[in-house]
Amino acid sequence: MYKPTIGIEVHAELKTKTKMFCGCANEPHAGEPNANVCPVCMAEPGALPVVNRDAVEKVLMVGAALGADIATFTEFDRKHYFYPDLPKGYQISQYKYPLVSSGTLTGVSITRVHLEEDAARSQHEGHEGTLVDYNRAGVPLMELVTEPVIHDIATASNFVRELQLLLRTIGVSDANLEKGEMRLELNLSLSKDETFGTKVEVKNINSFRSFEAAAAYEIKRQSEALDRGERVIQETRGWDENRQKTFSQRTKEVAEQYRYMPDPDIPKFDLSKIPEFELSRIQAKLPEIPSKKRERYGNLGIPSNLANQIVADSGLSKYLDICLLEEGARAHAKTLANYIMTDVPPLSAEAGILPAAETAPAFVELITLIAEGTITSRVAKDLLKEVLYEHAVPKTLVAQRGLAQTNDTEALAAVIAEVIAENPTVADEYRAGKEAVLQFLVGQGMKKTRGSANPGVLAQALKDALT
Ligand SMILES: [Zn+2]
Repeated sequence: MYKPTIGIEVHAELKTKTKMFCGCANEPHAGEPNANVCPVCMAEPGALPVVNRDAVEKVLMVGAALGADIATFTEFDRKHYFYPDLPKGYQISQYKYPLVSSGTLTGVSITRVHLEEDAARSQHEGHEGTLVDYNRAGVPLMELVTEPVIHDIATASNFVRELQLLLRTIGVSDANLEKGEMRLELNLSLSKDETFGTKVEVKNINSFRSFEAAAAYEIKRQSEALDRGERVIQETRGWDENRQKTFSQRTKEVAEQYRYMPDPDIPKFDLSKIPEFELSRIQAKLPEIPSKKRERYGNLGIPSNLANQIVADSGLSKYLDICLLEEGARAHAKTLANYIMTDVPPLSAEAGILPAAETAPAFVELITLIAEGTITSRVAKDLLKEVLYEHAVPKTLVAQRGLAQTNDTEALAAVIAEVIAENPTVADEYRAGKEAVLQFLVGQGMKKTRGSANPGVLAQALKDALT
């Protein structure tokens, strides 16, 4: 058995209005190809880059959310390579002085987060030659690198999922993998002892499922190679979605020569002297991050798997938070969470929209009626749609329709007599010892009381009447 060691690199396009170094719209996925271009992002002679302040701030927000160190000094560097998607012949990135270093997420240590520009998009299929769309050239891109401290696929997978949720929650990136707004890269090596084995990179993975499959495939492929006495070759591999395999792209026996150098067109930044970038100001801009939200829900008695599900859905957690502001709601947090996770989604899918914030008081009133035993959960489920989408007031509905829970056996006596009279065969079957049919009779009684009977009391009363 070999121990895998995994490090992760994540690129995410930042949600700014304009590109990283020019005033072009940051809309890589919209409109005609090459609509959002200018002399700066097309690298025409004499064009000078101007750093996008909002992009810097967004990376600092990521740093603050990760509890990381925010740089006091930073600079931008030129990373040289040649490809049609890179008009300048170099990419502006950060080498020695990343904006963010250290920090953790889901227990995984982070090495750094830096800011760079995205390349254009090449299209090789469907026509002769290669077409290039420069709408994406110069879009702000953050790159996050973890330490090689992960030893199993579940931990790696959990990390990238949590990072996506975090980026979305703090509003720095939409982070859709299928749109290339978030791209995953895996570094994986195997060893039998504490020394690192030879590292293989798998690049450009565009779904969580592929990420997990690529890691599993590499662990198997490298294990088998080592078992055969072969050595693992240090290389960059791609992921073939159709064949569910990684494949060799280029070997990396020699470290790539990017000839990094500080970009002389961009000033160096003394971040500590820019008041807007003070850590306390950046922290003040952060909304509640997912881990804190889970903790808050946990303290209200919401079970952790339910809290995880709600936190993963920004719409539902927002609605829950609005409800929790209502008087007395916190005492019923668990029931509220349960209904929001189980019963609200089918109704909102049907309506095509989540319940409006104004429905929160009525919804909390409904949940309180259940919690206090005034109505059964069956009645609550029947009323839910009217409460959430038709501005109904639960207490009024309960009074008008006589839906208050009935525990009183005497009041149920008439109902029970009717049920038995209408179902003589079933009643006889029960009397003859077929206990399973009692459930059917209870169901009939619930129907007659429109769900307002306490099912336990009704069952007992039926039993008494039939023996
Ligand atoms: Zn431009």
